[in-house]
Amino acid sequence: MNDQNVSRQTFDEVMVPVFAPAPFVPDRGEGSRVWDTQGRDYIDFAGGIAVTALGHAHPELLKVLHEQGAKLWHIGNGYTNEPVLRLAKKLESLTFADRAFFANSGAEANEAALKLARRVAFERHGADKYEIVSFTQSFHGRTFFTVSVGGQPKYSEGFGPVPAGLVHLPYNDIAAARNAIGPKTCAVVVEPIQGEGGVIPADPAFLRALREACDQHGALLIFDEVQTGVGRTGHFYAYQDTDVTPDILTTAKALGNGFPIGAMLTTNELAAHFKVGVHGTTYGGNPLGSAIALKVVELISDPQLLAGVRSRSDELRSVLAKLNERFGIFREVRGKGLLIGAELTEAYKGRAKDFVGAAGRHGLIMLMAGPDVLRFAPSLIIAHDDLHEGLARLAKAIEEVVSATADAPAR
Ligand SMILES: *Cc1c(COP(=O)(O)O)cnc(C)c1O
Repeated sequence: MNDQNVSRQTFDEVMVPVFAPAPFVPDRGEGSRVWDTQGRDYIDFAGGIAVTALGHAHPELLKVLHEQGAKLWHIGNGYTNEPVLRLAKKLESLTFADRAFFANSGAEANEAALKLARRVAFERHGADKYEIVSFTQSFHGRTFFTVSVGGQPKYSEGFGPVPAGLVHLPYNDIAAARNAIGPKTCAVVVEPIQGEGGVIPADPAFLRALREACDQHGALLIFDEVQTGVGRTGHFYAYQDTDVTPDILTTAKALGNGFPIGAMLTTNELAAHFKVGVHGTTYGGNPLGSAIALKVVELISDPQLLAGVRSRSDELRSVLAKLNERFGIFREVRGKGLLIGAELTEAYKGRAKDFVGAAGRHGLIMLMAGPDVLRFAPSLIIAHDDLHEGLARLAKAIEEVVSATADAPAR
């Protein structure tokens, strides 16, 4: 086999088959446009799963990549570096946090958060306070600990005995939370909007109730903002638009705009429980990733950019409402900023994948959030024309699925 000659088919021959990628192979991107290896163009409404918040090939990020890339990529944790220190200071200036730990992904940021919570409880209260409360449908990553904490059994079952002390509760159920959070609880971990679980926003009263119950029982409140963070909701972090402040916040995805980086943010008091050697990582906080993330954070924390997210959100929602008047396929459109979920009606239940497939055929990269929800997570700076062109392509994709369904013999 000529190893230069690869295609979508090669995936099925050489890759561990945990993914089922689209039939086309993206090759190049600029802003919210992507071209495949055949030269066809796409509008990108997925942003690499809420990652490329500043689009593809952003000139200021490319500049930092080239400059820092020519200077120093990696040095190891026996040394610190200026980019990571600037990044920590910047994130702390924007949030409740005084301390940062850097990792390479959302899962690793959550792994650090959960381990810190366990360590804090152990040192403050002893060995019996170890329960971690999380919510059904939640997603916290794919490491063994984080996937076990996550609330989607299809991801966590079949890997042997799970870590002890994990409690899963229904999301947005205040009574269940008050009932279950108690003296044995060491932490509650929650997404302010469940992303993978179907773009389901937390009720403000639910988040307040979690905060109260945590305070009452000396448990830590962890906000998993891996998907909602870094401007996605039109606020730098989603918690900033609630009246609840977490004890620990995790962030990744858009933080590096595609360069792998994640972070756990927390307070001085809690950080003091992680002493030298208690936790670590080889790559986390390397100068290249940190320099890129610093530029991402500088650009996205601009109030004008965040206002632009909110206005694009309004535009997107108003066009979706019009599409729904025409096709009647959405039961509900929900979410915040540019994290929007459109749940399909009963008649199209389980068919989000068909819409994503049709979108691809019409030159649109779409995302789903479970089998019943179309998810929109485009660049936060998507050009007006690209947003509207993408929605026009979506209309064609919807038309294709709807007419194929009408033509199909009744099942
Ligand atoms: C994507 C995601 C993760 C996992 O992040 P990775 O970088 O894939 O490890 C964790 N939590 C939430 C809420 C996410 O959306």
